[in-house]
Amino acid sequence: MRSALGGPRLLLRRLREVMAEPVNAQARLDKIVTVIASNMVAEVCSFYVMRADNTLELFATEGLKREAVHLTTMKAGEGLVGLIAQQAEPLNLPNAQSHPSFSYKPETGEEIYQSFLGVPVLRAGNTLGVMVVQNRAHRLYSEEEVEALQTTAMVLAEMIASGELQALARPGLDIALRRRMTLTGEALADGVGLGHAVMHEPRVVISNLIADDPDLEKQRLDEAIDGLRSSIDLLVDHGDVAHTGEHREVLETFRMFANDPGWMRRLREAVLSGLTAEAAVERVQSDNRARMLRQTDPYLRDRLHDLDELANRLLHRLVGRDMVSGQIQLPENAIVVARSMGPAALLDYDRSRLRGLILEEGGPTSHVAIVARALGIPAVGMVENITGLVEAGDALIVDGATGQVHVRPQQDVEDAYKEKARLRARRQEQYRTLRDVPAISKDGVPISLNMNAGLLIDLPHMNATGAHGIGLFRTELQFMIAERMPTPTEQITLYKTVLEAVGDKQVTFRTLDIGGDKILPYMRAREEENPALGWRAIRIGLDRPGLLRAQLRALLKAAAGRHLKIMFPMVASVDEFVRAKALVQREQEHLVRYHHAVPESVKLGVMVEVPSLLFEIDEIAAEADFLSVGSNDLMQFLYAADRENPLISNRFDPLGPASLRALRLIAEAGKKAGIPVTLCGELGGKPLEAMTLIAIGYQSLSMSPAAIGPVKAMLLDLDIRAAREKILDLLDHAGGIATLRPAIEAFARDHGIPI
Ligand code: PEP
Ligand code: MG
Repeated sequence: MRSALGGPRLLLRRLREVMAEPVNAQARLDKIVTVIASNMVAEVCSFYVMRADNTLELFATEGLKREAVHLTTMKAGEGLVGLIAQQAEPLNLPNAQSHPSFSYKPETGEEIYQSFLGVPVLRAGNTLGVMVVQNRAHRLYSEEEVEALQTTAMVLAEMIASGELQALARPGLDIALRRRMTLTGEALADGVGLGHAVMHEPRVVISNLIADDPDLEKQRLDEAIDGLRSSIDLLVDHGDVAHTGEHREVLETFRMFANDPGWMRRLREAVLSGLTAEAAVERVQSDNRARMLRQTDPYLRDRLHDLDELANRLLHRLVGRDMVSGQIQLPENAIVVARSMGPAALLDYDRSRLRGLILEEGGPTSHVAIVARALGIPAVGMVENITGLVEAGDALIVDGATGQVHVRPQQDVEDAYKEKARLRARRQEQYRTLRDVPAISKDGVPISLNMNAGLLIDLPHMNATGAHGIGLFRTELQFMIAERMPTPTEQITLYKTVLEAVGDKQVTFRTLDIGGDKILPYMRAREEENPALGWRAIRIGLDRPGLLRAQLRALLKAAAGRHLKIMFPMVASVDEFVRAKALVQREQEHLVRYHHAVPESVKLGVMVEVPSLLFEIDEIAAEADFLSVGSNDLMQFLYAADRENPLISNRFDPLGPASLRALRLIAEAGKKAGIPVTLCGELGGKPLEAMTLIAIGYQSLSMSPAAIGPVKAMLLDLDIRAAREKILDLLDHAGGIATLRPAIEAFARDHGIPI
């Protein structure tokens, strides 16, 4: 065998010559396998390409029978070649025929070869093919040889990705790179988007794989690693969290990996084998990605993910390109594909061209998801390896209702979705015509339909939907997407803008509901066993009143001369609310003492979302100016079912007897005390649920802006008296029934109520 350094470098140089020759794809492949076989002193070198039907097809061979080319196939998982494809790892066997997976293909004549070395041809962690060398004698290939074959496999991966091999595929048997896929992630923001992929962090296209001067490449690599380390140090100190969506802990992990000797050794070895610095990073990254995709332990997966991200940064550093493409000119109908993204980065894109968002990370409560919903951009998160499976420009469909993503869809799927999008648009148009129609039931009862908001980008929805007001302004959202704690002046400006935008209508500001899943990236989070039940919202506000007091003061100042409504989240006892009221009182007195203008009126309310309040409901109604039911939290605490856990979040129906009785109790307590009661959780935005709530006594609901049209359409056809009679009767006779939903649906159907 040749020396570890001379061999691979020589081989790569020969391959570069072959790549540059003006020959057709088959001739080039034939030459490549010959060059590899001769360089590695192997009697056989074969190249198998993965097809879209998950079958590996022999595309070229030196040593096996020529007739087998394009004839011999095996399924992924079948035989040694199929095993390598499936596991995405090399196999090095001195005695291949005794391996349990060995499968004999008579047309190849391979029975005389004993030793076998196969490596996957990987791109972004996906197996595109398999390279094999074989020898008659029993021998174990050296580590350097395995490395050399993996390096050459990279050259072939680029050849496949360039599309050159597509010409060799037989009709109907496309190679895997272009295959269509339907992937399922988590629905983040409703809607259907059709368009073409724009990579948020464009994958670096490496034009030069093979080094002219390996020493220079090593130096480039070392410099890039040094630069990467200092840039991470800088980010840890002054990270722009809103753009990158990165939390401090992630950056700390990056810092650890950037100094990991194992990682650096693998990078250096890849450079020493003759690759350019960029190609070396891509090689190590691709192996890592393949491991990540097959790793089932969530912790290890996350770490491999971090390492992948770090390699990405190193690549961008080497090619000297900026990481984020938010400022680039978007094509029409852009679907942005990203690993993860901060909320501000999404806002950088031109909204008029953005049709959808797909993320590898990002759950429904992630900040970018909140912004996507506010912008009305269909979005799907937690789509595994989407950045590795999609190329810029690929046709994509995002279904923000089901969480499905169609990659390079078939024409009939595309047509079906186009129709779905058209229908949606038509329905939206109908809802728009309802904008100025008064929200009055068929039997003449006015119902107040309000919208939920939290960002300035939500405000235009007020007029577009004809909402009566903002029933819930989640003040924490602005804090969550900011890079640092908003200053008092910034807070005042924001609240003033909101008050001005609503004009004569009403807005209810909710004080900071942070903690739990709502983390402020610039505030150190505490480790808590059960964050949803932990130190959050009003609990933080009362224990460390500085932040809450500053917010209350900003609200009071912003609303000078106007009517101000404030409500407190997660109140669990009357006592907590009394203490919160005292804080407002104190701030108000302070302003008066120093001759600041104060609001004309201040109304203070309580969010009813912790079940303990149900047992103090009359007392709390006596203390509060209004109540607002946070049904998202109330349901999760009532049923002890985590609202974010898909395994159980839909286990209990809010239209079950327990929740409806609780909701009715709150409405009746408000009525008895003579104070308004609203419901501002997701429940109020679904027509059937909204109908039920109105029937049991709610005269005001607050919901996402998109829900106002459908709920109003329902209301216009609703006879509240009849619905009330029916539903209260159902509720009185609901013993042992899990949900009243079917009976309520039947009522709506029988009365022609659109739900
Ligand atoms: C709720 O809990 O229903 C609610 C409206 O508040 P959030 O969803 O912000 O917790
Ligand atoms: Mg809540």
